[in-house]
Parts: sequence; structure tokens; C-alpha cells
Amino acid sequence: MTRIPLVAGNWKMHMSVADARHLVSEMVPGLQSKIGVDKVICPPFTALLAVASLLEGSDIHLGAQNMYWEAAGAYTGEVSPKMISEFCEYVILGHSERRAYFNETDQDVNRKVQAAFDHGLTPIMCVGETLEDYESNRTYDVVFRQVNLGLNGIEFELGESNVPNLVIAYEPIWAIGTGRAATPQDANRVIAEVVRSALAELYGDNIAQKIRVLYGGSVNGENAKDFFVQSEIDGALVGGASLKATEFIQITNAAAA
Ligand code: PEP
Repeated sequence: MTRIPLVAGNWKMHMSVADARHLVSEMVPGLQSKIGVDKVICPPFTALLAVASLLEGSDIHLGAQNMYWEAAGAYTGEVSPKMISEFCEYVILGHSERRAYFNETDQDVNRKVQAAFDHGLTPIMCVGETLEDYESNRTYDVVFRQVNLGLNGIEFELGESNVPNLVIAYEPIWAIGTGRAATPQDANRVIAEVVRSALAELYGDNIAQKIRVLYGGSVNGENAKDFFVQSEIDGALVGGASLKATEFIQITNAAAA
């Protein structure tokens, strides 16, 4: 099964509009038309419009980092799927920072994934265990639960391109922003034995084999290729290293190789 790799940059709460414009202008020449890899940039909400206009006509996709599940209403401070679908094709959902600092539950993530589908967005649904889970051998249970509850009741059909409009990012929390990446072999094992087998139970093996599953957690220009040679790792969700043009291009090149 050949899945087109995908590399997504999560800028988190960084970059003014001017900084975002500068960074994207630096990245576009190195990312544009790079074949064999899908490229996604996820700036903060405030920079989406500016980045969208710089990416117009390119093959680089835009994503948001979060959204609410309702399409509109009295939800002060929230941004709806309908709003972000004006600019974006992708949306990161259930990132561990949302779960940890903003109390997002698996049920919230589930509502958001459904809402993303309803508005034609491709969710990048994040799952991953804490350090405590990892050290007490609960990784499989936690990740299995997050995949199952996050996708509970959600059905989808393969679109015309035959690529499922769902991406999962396996991100061990202890590896995010710490410089301590999981070993590529361990990440591959969790994706094969937990994520993809949960997807197979939910949707059947054929669809499970087509869904892209990324690894995230301290991926950089140096270690990226070691993840991408693994059979079950279809790219990366990149935080810190996506804020440096040369490094993000290097990671994208490694995925395309
Ligand atoms: C992330 O924010 O999803 C992430 C993986 O961050 P970092 O690459 O900095 O570990």
C-alpha cells in the first residue's frame, strides 16, 4: 500500500501576521511543487488570511489548529468549521495541548471531527499517551481509546481521489517539544498495532490501509528520515521545527524522498 506522505507544520501560538508572511515567503520556494508529499501549514487563526493569500495558486495546503464544532452561534471567542473552511482544507483536532490545557475530552474531539467532515475539512486528529501512561505501560490502552472515542459513530466514504479525508497523528506527549523523540521503531509499532488496527476494526482493513498516520514529537531535519522509512509512518506533524523554513523544507524533502 502506498500512501502519499503528508508533512504538517503546527505553528502553535507563534508569529505575528508580518512574521507569518515572512516565514511563508521563505518556505514557498522550497515547498512548492515538491512532488510525492502533501504539505500543510497551520498558522494561528490571526495569520490564516494572510498566509492563505500567499499560498494561493501553490500546491501547499492551509490548516487551522483548532475549531469549535458548531457552525455559528453565541459562542464568544470560538471559531467555527464554517469560518475556517473559507480558507483551510485541514484542521488539527485534539492536540495534546488542547486536551491538557483546555480540558478537551475525547467526546469534544469526536464532535469536532464530525463537524470537520460536515464542512469538507480534513481533520488531523491527534492521539498520544502521557509520560505517566508510557512509563506504566498504558500506551496501547490510551491510544486505542482515543482513536475509538474520537471516531465514534463517524463514517466516511472514500472521495474521488480515493484518499480518506482523515489523518491521524500519533504524538506521544512526552516527545512533544522536549527534544526527546520516540524511537522510529516504537512509533511505528504503536501506529501498526494500535492506531491502524483500531482503524481496521472501525472501517475495515481496506480503508485502514489508506488512512494516513503521522508521527509527531520532536521531529527535526536530522531525524525525520528515520521516521519516514518506517512502513506505517506516513509523514509528520511538526511543531518547533516548522518555525524554521530551512528545517521544515528539509523534513518535507525527507518525506518526499
Ligand atoms: C506538535 O506540536 O504537535 C509537535 C509535535 O511539536 P514538536 O515538533 O515541537 O515536538
